[in-house]
Amino acid sequence: MWKFRDLADRLVSDGLVQSHRDFWTPEDPPAMVLSPPRGAGWQEDSQTGRMRPNPSGFTARLLAGSRPSAVVACRGCASLARSQQHFHCLLALWTSGGRGPRGPPDDWLLLAHDAEYCRGFLEGTLDAARWRRIGFTQCSDYGALVRRTRLEVAGTVLAARLALQRGLACHTAGGTHHAHRSWGSGYTILNDLAVAALLLLREGLVSRPLVCDLDVHQGDGTAEILAGEPRAFTFSVHCKDNFPFGFKGMSHLGADRSDLDVGLAAGTADQGYFGALEAHLPCALDLHRPDLVLYDAGVDVHADDGLGRLGVSWGGLRRREDVVLEACLSRKIPIVCVIGGGYDRSASRLSRRHSAVFHAAAAAWARHGL
Ligand SMILES: [Zn+2]
Repeated sequence: MWKFRDLADRLVSDGLVQSHRDFWTPEDPPAMVLSPPRGAGWQEDSQTGRMRPNPSGFTARLLAGSRPSAVVACRGCASLARSQQHFHCLLALWTSGGRGPRGPPDDWLLLAHDAEYCRGFLEGTLDAARWRRIGFTQCSDYGALVRRTRLEVAGTVLAARLALQRGLACHTAGGTHHAHRSWGSGYTILNDLAVAALLLLREGLVSRPLVCDLDVHQGDGTAEILAGEPRAFTFSVHCKDNFPFGFKGMSHLGADRSDLDVGLAAGTADQGYFGALEAHLPCALDLHRPDLVLYDAGVDVHADDGLGRLGVSWGGLRRREDVVLEACLSRKIPIVCVIGGGYDRSASRLSRRHSAVFHAAAAAWARHGL
């Protein structure tokens, strides 16, 4: 479950971030932000050493309405910092009165989810049928599940805001794309991508968001939630012989359609995968002309993934991240990356796959002088 921690370990050992002090996870109290992103409006509290939002800066706008007293984020790429550049990867953000992070306001969640469903999840009153759809059979710490789920959404929203400001940002969680408006699915409960897109639309910060979902599973929840929002475009490249299609006779699954779905046969390897991606991604970008891309970089396309059923190699996975980032950044389209799915008994192998998009983003950050 806590693949986020494994990913954090990987990013530190790879030198992309300096230390675990750069991260906050729901299992730990907030650590510290070592230095603020350039121009992002953070300032250090001389007494506590914590970073706080500069009232006149971007962060103050970002946090308007939540009245936090501090911001916890991850920043800092050791290698890029030497050239005075910063690369943001964010897990979760704001704290309340120094007592620890809290999730997004409920009204954000209600942009994408029915009130009855939201309340049922947050208050722990969902019926058994909907828990079966979500896929969790038991939960030892319900409070932690709610907290983590909400913070995943908050992290994607913050990373999206930073992407709008800086051109590129990555979130070390997120990609909960099977969550529908009134029910969860595929181990996902609240849809971070849909919430972020709808919130930024409501705030007028974007007018044409595009969700680029390259998780091996179709982004059916995102497709359903955003189907009634003509300003948003959903693009999904996935394995058509996999969840949510024809899954164990579950008739509620498989009917949702993205604005552009590209279904690949089981076993498709690098050549077929890139043939499809490079044929459709540029078209989607050029036709919709998004002002923000929300990229679900699910790594379950990898040949060794436990659930994926595609045959993308390690080199192919790394190349995919380069292709997506370059397609967006070369068009001057801001892009926010979330990690999406990935399944392996080895935490080390899985975190290496999830780290690919961070390595690609760090390289793209330097290449484009962001
Ligand atoms: Zn997946």
